[in-house]
Amino acid sequence: MVWGNVFEARTFIRNYAIINKFEYYQVKNEDYRLRYKCGDEKCEWMCYVRKNCDGHTMELKNTSNLTHTCRGKAMDKNKLAHAGWVANEVEQLVRSVRSTRPCDVQEAIWTKYGVNVSYSTIWNAWTICMEMIVGSYDKGYIVMPELTVQVLLANPRSISTCSIDLMTNEWTGTCIS
Ligand SMILES: [Zn+2]
Repeated sequence: MVWGNVFEARTFIRNYAIINKFEYYQVKNEDYRLRYKCGDEKCEWMCYVRKNCDGHTMELKNTSNLTHTCRGKAMDKNKLAHAGWVANEVEQLVRSVRSTRPCDVQEAIWTKYGVNVSYSTIWNAWTICMEMIVGSYDKGYIVMPELTVQVLLANPRSISTCSIDLMTNEWTGTCIS
């Protein structure tokens, strides 16, 4: 199996693990080689991917053992499903359906992957999506939250906040006092 680059290889293996309901840990996670082992230390599942001589494509090596010797746990939570992964998965959905709420994101992930992601992770993922989307509307507005923080740091007793419209996700105002 060959992937176009290291990012594609990482994404594929993460999705594969989430769908197949197991976790892995990274023994090596470098641009030119990935070595992952099953989260159950006694299990012999091991995945080894190495960069080809062309300098970018990544190939699954024969030394990999893709058969689990652990007992598959019927788990519906997976630590591999972190906020960054969720944000990537639902970015298109949030972009095309403006009224998408965090609970919709949670349901979409459950439907597609059968994995139950905690509300705090969902909230973080939703925030990441909002930043990507609002940032693409107008790069200027994405720095507003950061600017208000800077104003507060320089002027500790002042009020400095900014707000967005929760329906359209657009910047609505900045309050400095
Ligand atoms: Zn295993």
